Amino acid sequence: NRYECTIRRVVRTLARNARNAVVTGDIVLFQPGDNFSGVIERVNPRKGIISRFHRRQEHIIVANVDQVLIVVSADEPPLKPNLIDRFLISAEKGKVKPVICINKVDLVDLTRMQLIAGLYGQIGYDVILVSASTGYGMPHLRNVLKGKESVFTGQSGVGKSTLLNVMQPGLLLDTSTVSEGTLKGRHTTRRAILLDLKFGGWVVDTPGIRQFGLWDVLPEEVEGYFIEFRPFVIHCQFPDCTHTHEKKCGVKQAVQNQIISEQRYYSYVKIMHDQNEMKEENRHWS
Ligand code: GDP
Ligand code: ZN
Repeated sequence: NRYECTIRRVVRTLARNARNAVVTGDIVLFQPGDNFSGVIERVNPRKGIISRFHRRQEHIIVANVDQVLIVVSADEPPLKPNLIDRFLISAEKGKVKPVICINKVDLVDLTRMQLIAGLYGQIGYDVILVSASTGYGMPHLRNVLKGKESVFTGQSGVGKSTLLNVMQPGLLLDTSTVSEGTLKGRHTTRRAILLDLKFGGWVVDTPGIRQFGLWDVLPEEVEGYFIEFRPFVIHCQFPDCTHTHEKKCGVKQAVQNQIISEQRYYSYVKIMHDQNEMKEENRHWS
């Protein structure tokens, strides 16, 4: 049953930011009233938060997320591993488990995709290869989503809505019929919603978080989110080693010894560089 609830004042005042007092995905205790109304009395501690920062304030978009599916396409648009790495950083930062989902495998040579899957699998990430068009990998995807609260994220055009609709026809009915143009003005006020999966579980739907950004990640934080670098950082000569120009560097040594993948290393260098530029720009503006 669905109850329309108001929020007890004390719940609001206890929250550091009133806007975040109760958010989508929260598990709450409420006092039921007449006609499916109610008053929220308590909010349980949250885990797995996805938030957005706006004017240095955190806006929690959804709470208690079990996993974020990073959806990319094998082609159309072509696969950019650097983009996977950016999404992985966001997931690591939010302490939400990432699952990499490579869609449109029908368009490419499967063995090439298996290589990429292997690379990320070795680091410790789950990777699923799927095709919404042929149905390849769909049972696997269902299994991964079953009983969990999941967020789908990824560039537009990679097939997120198609995947969801193939998995459960009609799931996105409310949202897909409204064109992006008419929704635009409401993005800021619209709350995230949880879509019910018939086989158990929820998918978080909000246009806003489909592409959650990286701008609040500092350059010096980036290395910590490349989880396979961790064991090698202790071999760097300098504690503040950036693993770029320094001579005695454990990370670069590991790349040379082919323990850390070159692709991931260059991705790290690129993201560091971009975050540095962004930091400079922010300094300029503030
Ligand atoms: P979204 O922006 O991530 O939600 O992407 P859409 O679901 O709108 O899909 C973008 C385009 O990719 C559409 O034209 C889909 O028909 C197409 N597409 C989605 N999944 C597949 C797939 O597995 N294989 C192929 N070949 N095309 C797909
Ligand atoms: Zn180093």
